Amino acid sequence: MSRFLSVVIKPTLACDMGCRHCYHSPEEMSSGARISFDRLERLFTMLSREYDSVWFVWHGGEPLSMPFSFYRKVLDMQERILGPNRYGNTVQTNGAAVDRKFIKFCRDRQINIGISHEGQFNSVLRPDGNAVEKRITEMADKERVFSVSSTISRETQDKQAEIYRHFRDIGTAVSINPVLPLGCASCRKELVPDPEAYIRSSIDAFDEWFNDPEVRIPLIPHYLYVLSALGDPQGSDCAHSSCLTKWLCVYPNGDLYPCAKPCPQSMRLGNVDTIRSISEAFRSDGFAEILKGTIARREKCASCELFRYCQGGCSIDALAEGGIENNGGDSCRIFREVFSHVKRCVDSITEEKKDLSGYNVFVRDAVLGKLVNPALDRYVM
Ligand code: SF4
Ligand code: SF4
Repeated sequence: MSRFLSVVIKPTLACDMGCRHCYHSPEEMSSGARISFDRLERLFTMLSREYDSVWFVWHGGEPLSMPFSFYRKVLDMQERILGPNRYGNTVQTNGAAVDRKFIKFCRDRQINIGISHEGQFNSVLRPDGNAVEKRITEMADKERVFSVSSTISRETQDKQAEIYRHFRDIGTAVSINPVLPLGCASCRKELVPDPEAYIRSSIDAFDEWFNDPEVRIPLIPHYLYVLSALGDPQGSDCAHSSCLTKWLCVYPNGDLYPCAKPCPQSMRLGNVDTIRSISEAFRSDGFAEILKGTIARREKCASCELFRYCQGGCSIDALAEGGIENNGGDSCRIFREVFSHVKRCVDSITEEKKDLSGYNVFVRDAVLGKLVNPALDRYVM
């Protein structure tokens, strides 16, 4: 078993923002359930016994629906049970409750903050975000551990370069991803982007970022694709790095699932209160179900020339797009086209030994890093 695990914890499903594409229904959000400290103590203890290190992602619902004191106590508990240098934290928030006090706390305790926001197009999926936008602008460039995640709907499918420019100009790292036909968006299909339009716009944003020597922000997932094309796949790109047994999601009631995206009940891996070890969760019938479907899909992917970069994509996306055992859905098409474009651009640099000064610093550093790696011997300055 891997000695590193990423654990998404949904301490509550409560959220009053009402984003149109949320993974959770209004009924789930109003349930009021909160994870207990006893449950967290049991979870951290099992993790400590079985893993060298753990990255926690606090998700929801809205994780900052929990009081500030909750996170103080959580960090003390992590330090006591896991010990120093064995854990890290990200809070993925809608940003409404992020204030100076919380930012200082995160800076002092080295907690990453991820804010979901779409810049100038925020109102397409979420209520008024002016206060959040102001907070993002204040934090930009000053807060090392801060990034924005922008979700692209059909209405903004052609606007990816504009959204990228918006965050580039205020100096904030940005990750751009499509609305998936999951949760609330499973019955609002009009929110899901057209894959061809999404691909064109994603490539436009990438080209602008790739060919700008002045840019100082990474564009995700494109930057991860650059690294992967250079032979250095990144585990944080869970959809393309074989996630099973590397990720776990915990609900407020202690139920465990293989992923933070909405999984069917049949993929439940057990409950924190009753399992005796994390490995027991990965031996459950629920895990066998996602594993079986994933293997069936990967067998179909075996002849794909991108399999070594893709690993068959995300099982929950595939489930939502035509069956877990099937490839060829929108996510597969988007990855295939966007990654292939990124790879052609990267290959043209390395094969033609291009002058690197025309590319952004992330690309320059990634290519130069390969100079000391014998795995890439075709690039010589
Ligand atoms: S099921 Fe998909 S989103 Fe979830 S951890 Fe795996 S690849 Fe990532
Ligand atoms: S791009 Fe599509 S077909 Fe190719 S490996 Fe990924 S999911 Fe499978």
